[in-house]
Amino acid sequence: MVSFVNSSNASTGDDLKERVRDAVDIVELAGSYLSLRRQGKGFVGLCPWHDDSRPSLQINPERQTYRCWVCNDGGDVFKFLMRMERLEFREALEHLAERAGIPMTRGRSGASGARKADFHKALNWAADRYRDYLQSSPDARAAREYLTTRGLTEDTIQRFGLGFAPDSWDWLLKEASAAGIGTDILAATGMAVERQDASGHYDRFRARIIFPIRDPMSRCVAFGGRVLPEAKSDAKSDPAKYINSPETPVFSKSSMLYGLESAREAMGKTRRAVVVEGYTDCLAARQAGIDDVVAVLGTALGEKHAKLLRRYVDRIVIVLDGDDAGRKRTDEILDVLLAEPIDLRIARLPSGIDPCDFILDHGRDAFETMLESAADPLDYRLDEVNARLPEGASDDAVLAAVESVLSALANASPRSPLSPSQRRLREDQVIGRLVRRFGLSRDILRSRVTELRGRQSVHRKTTATTTPPSIPAKLPAWDREVIEVLVCVPEGAGIIIRDVQASELQTGAGRDVLEAARRLHDAERPVDLSGLLMEIPDHQLQSMLVAVDEEAAQRGPVDSTERMAHFLDALRRRSAEREAHASERKIKTSELDDSSEEELLEQLVAQRRVAQGMTNPKEG
Ligand SMILES: [Zn+2]
Repeated sequence: MVSFVNSSNASTGDDLKERVRDAVDIVELAGSYLSLRRQGKGFVGLCPWHDDSRPSLQINPERQTYRCWVCNDGGDVFKFLMRMERLEFREALEHLAERAGIPMTRGRSGASGARKADFHKALNWAADRYRDYLQSSPDARAAREYLTTRGLTEDTIQRFGLGFAPDSWDWLLKEASAAGIGTDILAATGMAVERQDASGHYDRFRARIIFPIRDPMSRCVAFGGRVLPEAKSDAKSDPAKYINSPETPVFSKSSMLYGLESAREAMGKTRRAVVVEGYTDCLAARQAGIDDVVAVLGTALGEKHAKLLRRYVDRIVIVLDGDDAGRKRTDEILDVLLAEPIDLRIARLPSGIDPCDFILDHGRDAFETMLESAADPLDYRLDEVNARLPEGASDDAVLAAVESVLSALANASPRSPLSPSQRRLREDQVIGRLVRRFGLSRDILRSRVTELRGRQSVHRKTTATTTPPSIPAKLPAWDREVIEVLVCVPEGAGIIIRDVQASELQTGAGRDVLEAARRLHDAERPVDLSGLLMEIPDHQLQSMLVAVDEEAAQRGPVDSTERMAHFLDALRRRSAEREAHASERKIKTSELDDSSEEELLEQLVAQRRVAQGMTNPKEG
């Protein structure tokens, strides 16, 4: 692609994306994963995302896109790598930049790549030291015995690299100094803590069993430390049972999970993630052969965790204690995760028993049975609502009772990365259940959610949430026409942006593509297939764009002049039609007197009543 002169307001981030995209060849990228063979102008291979026996994956070198006709999935180099390696966009960008030898100058977290590499090196080194200490030091005997009483085998301890930090204020500091690792990096990674009087540093982890926490690339990013039960007796104050490394540029407890790096493969197979609250619980489950288990890092499961897990699974089972704390947590989780498009289940253990005990006492099969019977937290909440309702409660009373559920739905964070269509789907599911359960009208529930959302988002920029695209199997003709011109005839973008209003398009998908085209145009960036693919993060929309492009190309080479003449003709016809409609409407409305208006309203109310009675929820 021709390099493009930036307007001053175009961000360098977009520049970088474009440079990386242009430097990577999709044939070469896909070819490094799949065996491709040439077919016509492009290449074909076996699709890695469905059970493919004849090559259904097509690579288009000219457009730099891929598409599988069976999965109906398509996109550019970024999406290919994101799907292949289950990465976020940012990670895919980093990988491809590295592959193309383009330096990533801006680190969003504030730490440059070089500094992060130093962090990982120091943390990996420390993990080895702690592990060696647990394995071989006589001082670590109590720790080894404790792990044995928790039922953990030598093999598990080795596999997860457990370690021990001796009861010393400067053991790690001295080891580091001998190894040529500076105190500054120990402090920056949270392994050392500065003394209050700034006279020096001391070791954060002392007399604790060490659980190294790793990122998805298996690099050590932090530690969890657990006290030994005996340690309490001689300490002046009761030490916290668990402490973790603080948040650093390489560690964020709200977006990481213990054990994820080694659970991903199993999760990909079971499509399920089991989330427990303790590191030993996680290890006990793994040891029992339940491999899709991870642990939260001293925090409740939140939106970011759910987003991360959604890359691998369709269902999350959270294992909680059966006490009041567990019940409270159920409510918190529901408030945060209700609007996530994932099947969320809560498994409650008998009071006072943790998963580790449960597995040791009852074995793997009993634990699996408990996971299988895990309840949907929404059902749980709805049971509570139902129990409080008097017999024959009015619609208003029921609506008030389910208000907390609706408000959780409306509250679905605007930062949530869900595509509008995913959010809409989840909303439909929840509303469908309220309809079935309480006999409320779908319309009333939906308008209440919209109302609540409007109240919360007064200060927010309006997003596409109110008009989410659910991409129809067949796009309406005008939506398709507009999208096709945007994708295939870059010269036509100016006219579309000037003359086509979003309100003329029938689908959210069409409006989203038009909006994206407008943003590109305003930033003086080229409006074309690759620009749109980069501007629109939604994977379904990306697939749709590639499909439209491929189908247009199948009809033969695109002649821009001819194509635009056809488009302008259609545009003229449409605007003439619209004017005719408008005047027709005007005539009709002006004839309506007061009494007939009342009649019409009554009719509408009656229709709505009928609709309420007949509402037939499809969803389960
Ligand atoms: Zn496929």
